[in-house]
Amino acid sequence: MTARSIITIDGAAGTGKSSVAGLLAKKLDAGCLDSGAMYRAVAVLAIDFDIKPTDGLALANKVNEVGISFNWEKDPPTVMLGGVDVSERIRELDISGIVSSVAKQPEVRAVLMDQQRIIASTHPLLVTEGRDQGSVVFPEAIVHFFLEADLAERTKRRTKQLQESGNDVHPDVVAEDIKNRDHIDSTRSDGPLICPEGAVVINTSNHTLEEVVEKMEHIVRRTLSNQ
Ligand code: C5P
Repeated sequence: MTARSIITIDGAAGTGKSSVAGLLAKKLDAGCLDSGAMYRAVAVLAIDFDIKPTDGLALANKVNEVGISFNWEKDPPTVMLGGVDVSERIRELDISGIVSSVAKQPEVRAVLMDQQRIIASTHPLLVTEGRDQGSVVFPEAIVHFFLEADLAERTKRRTKQLQESGNDVHPDVVAEDIKNRDHIDSTRSDGPLICPEGAVVINTSNHTLEEVVEKMEHIVRRTLSNQ
């Protein structure tokens, strides 16, 4: 492969994006970018530096000052704020509670979009997942995927993920968090969660991770071989 190729996976919380993206990237020997982790890292900055989640300019300045990066040597890549690994911190519920307000700020989106494009330029093949990766950040991607799933299934998956990482949460609290983020993410004016034009839409509710990834891998390989 000579030119840089990008595969985007967008969708709402709990549709399976992260698991699917990680496995697909492994099968394709590609890099894997979790763009949501970058927004979550900005939410950590808001809390740690006592910046209002709605103060986009102050948050963007703080991102430039501290720096968000990934350690690509780790599997999955760890998220760093300055020199500190915040991979576990970003999954906590207080972060989930404010991340969509942070992500609504155009100044924050602009600074992270630039960084996502720089990251892509360093990977010959990249699978990137989020809300706006196919629609705004990488419209030139070779395949755009859009994942969907029922709210009940999404709640079940997120609750399991949180409980496995030691957060003892009730499913009702998780469902509220998901609904709240869905609302903010899909109604904001800048980079809202939408299905990119021409995207392959997959409903993951009744399929295993392996089934979904197999289907996606087939589509990507076919596209790559036609390039
Ligand atoms: O993917 P994850 O659920 O970890 O993303 C956390 C939040 O980050 C989302 O609810 C959304 O507000 C924001 N986000 C975004 N654009 C992206 C990825 C995530 O606005 N590309």
